Amino acid sequence: MHRPNERFRHVAALAALLGAAALLCGCGPKGADDVTRNQAQDCGWTAGELPVVPDLDARLAAYVRTELDPDTSHLDPAEQATLAKLVEAAKVMHDLFAEQATPCRAELAARIGDLPAGLQAGVRRYFAINLGPWDRRFDRQPFFGSWPHPEGANFYPLDLTAQEKAAIADPARGLDGLFTMVRRDADGALQAVPYSVHFRTGLEHAADLLREAAALTGNASLAAFLRSRADAFLSDDYYASDMLWMDLDSDVEITIGPYETYEDGLFGYKAAFEAFVTVTDPLESARLAKFKDELPWLESRLPIGDEHKNPGRGSDSPIRVVDEVYSAGDTRAGVQTIAFNLPNDERVREAKGSKKVLLRNVMNAKFNRILRPIAEQLVIDDQLGDLTAESFFLHTLWHEMSHGLGPGRITKDGRATEVRLELKDLYSTLEEAKADAMGEWTIFELHAAGRDYFPPEIVRQQAATYLAGLFRSVRFGIGEAHGQANAIQFNYLLEKQAIAWHPDVQRFSVDTAVFVPAIGDLVAQICLLQALGDYDGTSAFITKYGGLPPVLEAALRRLDGIPVDIEPVFDRWD
Ligand SMILES: [Zn+2]
Repeated sequence: MHRPNERFRHVAALAALLGAAALLCGCGPKGADDVTRNQAQDCGWTAGELPVVPDLDARLAAYVRTELDPDTSHLDPAEQATLAKLVEAAKVMHDLFAEQATPCRAELAARIGDLPAGLQAGVRRYFAINLGPWDRRFDRQPFFGSWPHPEGANFYPLDLTAQEKAAIADPARGLDGLFTMVRRDADGALQAVPYSVHFRTGLEHAADLLREAAALTGNASLAAFLRSRADAFLSDDYYASDMLWMDLDSDVEITIGPYETYEDGLFGYKAAFEAFVTVTDPLESARLAKFKDELPWLESRLPIGDEHKNPGRGSDSPIRVVDEVYSAGDTRAGVQTIAFNLPNDERVREAKGSKKVLLRNVMNAKFNRILRPIAEQLVIDDQLGDLTAESFFLHTLWHEMSHGLGPGRITKDGRATEVRLELKDLYSTLEEAKADAMGEWTIFELHAAGRDYFPPEIVRQQAATYLAGLFRSVRFGIGEAHGQANAIQFNYLLEKQAIAWHPDVQRFSVDTAVFVPAIGDLVAQICLLQALGDYDGTSAFITKYGGLPPVLEAALRRLDGIPVDIEPVFDRWD
C-alpha cells in the first residue's frame, strides 16, 4: 500500500493516541478568534527556479487514466439523490486533505503557470495525482521545483527546531493529537488547533451535506451514521459514528473522515481526511455470506497439527464487497486502494471488530489495465486464456479471509503469547505470504470438496492469474512486506518447479498439477513457523526465499512500459 502496495492500511498503534488526543490537549477548545491570531503561513519559499524532471512523461504514463463508473441503476430515486450528496461531501474531504498534505498549495499550484506552456498540462496533471509537487512513487522527491518535501506535510510549521520536535513528541504537551494541526500562535509558540476549528468552514459544509443526505436516504442505519458523523466533524469525537459505521446495512455507503496517519511522515500522529463513496452488490454479498460460513471448516482442514488449530477464530470481522462510486482525499493520492480495514479506533475494534471493505471495480480496473498487460509480457501464450478478473478478485478476497485463519494466539515455552509478538519485525512479511498462499489453498480445498462456488476451470484460472499477480506485486518493491511476501512465493514455487521459466520464449508458466500441492506445502511450512513462534526459523526462511533472483529481475525490467497504477476518473461527478 504507501504506501508501496495498495492492500490494507491499518494502524493498530492509534489506540493510545486516540485517548491521548482528547485528554492531553490541555489547551481547551479554541474559537475562531484564536485561529485568526495564528501566525500567517510564510509562503515566500515557493519562489525560485522551476526545474521539471526530464522523465515526466514516463511518470505520467505510470498512471493510466481509468473511468470508474459502476452501475447504480438498481438504486431508487431517493438513494440516487443520497449518492449525489455523499459525493459532494467527499469532495470537501479532498480539499481538506490537500491542505493537510501540502503547505502553501495555492502558491505552488500557481507556479505551474510560470512554466513553459508545453509543460504546464503534464505538470498540472501530475500535481493533481500527487496533490503537490512531490512524487509519491519516488520518495517524495520534487518533480517540479526543488523544494524538499516537509516530512510532517502541512500538519506542523515548516521551521520546527529540534527542541520543538521534542516538545511535540512529549505527550504532556498535548501537541500529538490525532485530530489537531500544530500551528504557531501570535507569539510564535506551538499550539494544537483542533480540526473542527482549523477546518471549520469545510467541516461545517461537509456536515450540512451529510445531514441533507441523511434526510434523503430511506436506510435508517445510514441516516444514523451520517447524522453522527456530521456531529463528529464539529466536535472531533468520532467514536460514536465509528461504532455506527460498523452497523451500516445500506446499498449506498460512505466512509468519510480523518483516518490514516501515513501522511504525517514526521511522527505519524495526525489523521488525514479521505472518503470512499460506494454501492453494494447484493449478489456478491450473498455469496460472501456463504464463504464466511466455510471458515470454521477451512480452519479444521489446515495442513498443520490439530494442536495448532484455532477453531472459532476470525468469525467476527465483517467483510463487504462494494463498487467505488467516488474517492477523495488521502486514498485518491498516488497508488489507489483496492481494500481497506477500518476503523482504527481500538475501542471500536474491541467492541465490534473492524470492517474489511473490498473495492471490486477498482480491482477489475487494475486487472484489465495492469495485470493483463503484465501477463502478456511474462506468461506463456497457452495460459493467457486462463487469466480472469474473477480469479484476481477471489484471490484478494480469500487473502483477506485468510488473515483470520491459522495461528494467532499461541503457546511458546509454556507461556501464552501471539505470533505477532514472537515474530516481531518479520511478522508482516510472513503473514502476508501466508495470506497469499492460503488464499489460493482455500479455493482449491473448497473446489476439491465439491462446493459449487466456482467454475470447473477454477484451478487453471487461479494458477495463471496468481502467477501474473506475483509479478504485479513484486513490482512494488521487496523492501516492504507485501512485495517481499510475493518474492517468497515466487522463489518457493520456482524451486518446487510449480513455476517454470522458458528461455526460448522468455516467458513463465505454471504447472497446475505441481502448483496445487506445492501451495499446500507452502501453507504448511508458514503455519508451522507461526504456530511455534519461531523467529530464527522465520528469519532463515525469509533469507532463503525472500530475494529477487536474476531471472525475475530481468523479467521485471521488461514491464517498464506498463502502467504501475490507475488514475481513477469520475466523469459523472467531476
Ligand atoms: Zn494482507
